[in-house]
Amino acid sequence: MVLEKYKQKRNFTSTPEPAGDLTLAAERAKGAKPEKGLFFCVQKHLASHLHYDFRLEHKGVLLSWAVPKGPSLDPKTKRLAMHVEDHPFEYGTFEGVIPSGYGAGIVMLWDQGTWTPETDDVDASLKKGDLKFTLDGYKLKGSWVLVRTSGGYGGRGGGDSRSWLLIKHRDDWAGDVDITEFAPRSVKSDGEFEDILAADNPDVWVSNRPAEGGAAGEMLATIIERAAALKAGRPVDRKSAAKSGTATPKRKTAATKQSKPATTRTAKKPAAKTAAQPRQSAKKARA
Ligand code: MN
Repeated sequence: MVLEKYKQKRNFTSTPEPAGDLTLAAERAKGAKPEKGLFFCVQKHLASHLHYDFRLEHKGVLLSWAVPKGPSLDPKTKRLAMHVEDHPFEYGTFEGVIPSGYGAGIVMLWDQGTWTPETDDVDASLKKGDLKFTLDGYKLKGSWVLVRTSGGYGGRGGGDSRSWLLIKHRDDWAGDVDITEFAPRSVKSDGEFEDILAADNPDVWVSNRPAEGGAAGEMLATIIERAAALKAGRPVDRKSAAKSGTATPKRKTAATKQSKPATTRTAKKPAAKTAAQPRQSAKKARA
């Protein structure tokens, strides 16, 4: 059944995530025109581990892969993408706090736009384990591929492996900019995780945090502290602690400026400014 696994994993009385409307899924599937572009999004999800959920609309639902390190614009950098359960179409604009249960943590809408398959038969490509497509988002653009690996992670190998690789093809939108660091904010609210948490309930994890130790736990602790400060109207030092500031100050300023046009626009056309930097650096890299 459509969205069966998605529904099984969640208790909709305790999660703000959409329940998954099967009528909407059927309508969406009927009205879809792949050649004109389908919906895609990437949600940055701080749960027990930080990861990026990559979602492509197909037949009224969102095909989903969890990408631990997030997408890379560098064609040489192949990113592991674990195939997970289909999500409802309406999940694609979700941003907020999952207080407990499956996926507990904070979800940020990190990128969104349209995708166009570079194949006439998406199902056949998925079955084959080689899906080529073009993205037109605020942050991710150009040609990409998802390739299923022969296994190893599940140890089973063969065609039913859940592990895929997300790879950027070489084009004008490829480059050496670390896009997750360069453009870390939400395309929906323009916020960081702490802003999303502050808008909700910063006290939600007084006990039973979704991540206690490790990098995710440390990051979450800082975010909770900042969210509480934001909520209380106290000044917040965004530079300290968990977020290791490896980006140069110049880049940080640019990223802040660049994420703004994306969120203030309601039009589907991605902000040209956001895309300008990767394109420039791609040219530089080739020169
Ligand atoms: Mn997730």
